[in-house]
Amino acid sequence: MIVMKFGGTSVQDAVAIRRVASIVAGRRKEQPLVVVSAMGGVTDKLVQVAEAAGRSDLSAAVELLSGIRQRHVDAAAAMLTPDAARAFAAELDSRIGEATALAARIAAQGSASPAQHSHMLTFGELLSSVLVAAAFEALGIPSAHADARQLVVTDARHPAATPLANPTRARLLEAIPPLLEAGRVPVLGGFIASSESGEVTTLGRGGSDYSAAIIGASLEASRIEIWTDVSGILTTDPRMCPTARRIEEISFHEATELACFGAKVLHPATLLPAIEHNIPVAVLNSHKPQEAGTIIRASAAKGPSAFRAIAVKRKIAVFNIHAPRNVGSLRFLDDLFSLLRWHHLQSEIVAISGASASVAVEGGSELVKLTAELETLGNVDFEPGMAIVCLVGEDIRGRVGIASEIFGVLAAGGINIRMIAQGASEISLSFVVEEKDAVHAVQLLHRHLFEQLAPTPSHPSAAVQKAVRA
Ligand code: ASP
Ligand code: MG
Repeated sequence: MIVMKFGGTSVQDAVAIRRVASIVAGRRKEQPLVVVSAMGGVTDKLVQVAEAAGRSDLSAAVELLSGIRQRHVDAAAAMLTPDAARAFAAELDSRIGEATALAARIAAQGSASPAQHSHMLTFGELLSSVLVAAAFEALGIPSAHADARQLVVTDARHPAATPLANPTRARLLEAIPPLLEAGRVPVLGGFIASSESGEVTTLGRGGSDYSAAIIGASLEASRIEIWTDVSGILTTDPRMCPTARRIEEISFHEATELACFGAKVLHPATLLPAIEHNIPVAVLNSHKPQEAGTIIRASAAKGPSAFRAIAVKRKIAVFNIHAPRNVGSLRFLDDLFSLLRWHHLQSEIVAISGASASVAVEGGSELVKLTAELETLGNVDFEPGMAIVCLVGEDIRGRVGIASEIFGVLAAGGINIRMIAQGASEISLSFVVEEKDAVHAVQLLHRHLFEQLAPTPSHPSAAVQKAVRA
């Protein structure tokens, strides 16, 4: 079986849902299970509902809920038979009634508890999944709605609960295989779940991808497809570098490294269940289903360059600490990291040599306040307005001359490098430049690494087919 997850823009209206149905119809032989997000923009509206109720503005909350209801009514009217539309409207009205009652409780209290806030957000996926299941039936795909709140089990943390693998697997294994064997396509809402004691939870904003991965891992899917509105993962951020191109294949390891440096790939937590169960993840575009997308898998085929992608993290500040007597002593490192931890700062890059240590952290000029505390360790020099550029590629492991090649390109472009790190895993090379140089650095490196090559040949859906064969 495979898991196919469709994001908010992929189910935003009847036109989009029809497109989803035709994509799913084309995969029937692979026994798909479908996970959907809320219709695009609905979760944001539900946040506003909870906020309005928290201000005791119940009429604003009701107004917003009625807008949400109308979007579902319109989509249903365009797809369902009159009978099916009536059945859906009954379910819709009962859910909107529950949401209204919840809003009224919040308004009476004058603020939403974290549990109530989560609960309010679950209505988006609850409604979209019922609608999409009904639409599949209407469009000739035998389907069955399955309530993810009964199947995905988490701890009781809000707003982002952690899934519990064992009970989730047990419940899914009981509910889903019979549906698949009966030739039905199960449709579940992503993002929503409940705790062992039955309290409604969510996996946190953007959590539908995570749902898809947990479900795929539990059911040992042969592939997880994440359908979105971009054609896969790109070599770099196209806003910085318009010549960014699609990555055909990328390894789990590389994708995780990229995500840590702020690239817009799937969140590392999302990939984890897939990594643990060695399930390939395809990122595909529901608006252009004929395009090949990107496959993330344990070991990816060699790409056109030794590097796979370039990520950039802006708003970085660097502390340089000069402490002739202390740098390198255990006490010094201990104090340095304790201080960062105390301020909830994660060190992005650390470099220690001789008498000085440099630490790059996320943040801007407001961090200058740390200088005084760090001065207990040595002389401190604070540099905000930096950016980290991170080049990722498993193929660079053991390659001689990579660093000189990269830094040569930057030197030729007149870009000054402030700090360098290459991890022991040797799959990434990161460095710090001034933020004003970041775009130029990325463009120079992108041109050097990716654009002086022949375009990657791509037969439509070649990457996916490779994954199917594997
Ligand atoms: N609907 C939720 C959100 O907008 C979850 C998701 O779409 O992944 O955050
Ligand atoms: Mg998303």
